[in-house]
Amino acid sequence: MPDNEIELWGGSFLHTRIKLLVTRLQEQTWEWATYRRCDALVSLDGRQLTPYTGEPFEPSEFQVVEHGWTHDHCGLCNWSIGESDDPRDGTGYTGGKRWLCTGCFERFFS
Ligand SMILES: [Zn+2]
Repeated sequence: MPDNEIELWGGSFLHTRIKLLVTRLQEQTWEWATYRRCDALVSLDGRQLTPYTGEPFEPSEFQVVEHGWTHDHCGLCNWSIGESDDPRDGTGYTGGKRWLCTGCFERFFS
């Protein structure tokens, strides 16, 4: 691995990129949580998908899919966090809409 890269659960990343992201993400408050899938707002053509949090939407363009948002990704290393019995895959730290894997949180935020 080159000297300017750092190894995280989701792969190798440039130190400079991770440092910049950590600085931004430190502005949020993070809470440990077990991941639970949530409803998704999906465009009728299937091209757009976002977590649904109760906001108004245009029913001629979107529909709510119950439990349709199945996972998120770590904001640093892109590790997939979803429902799982393995705590490495099924838990993380959330700051509202964003998630961090426990590996990144323990390395950079604790
Ligand atoms: Zn991570």
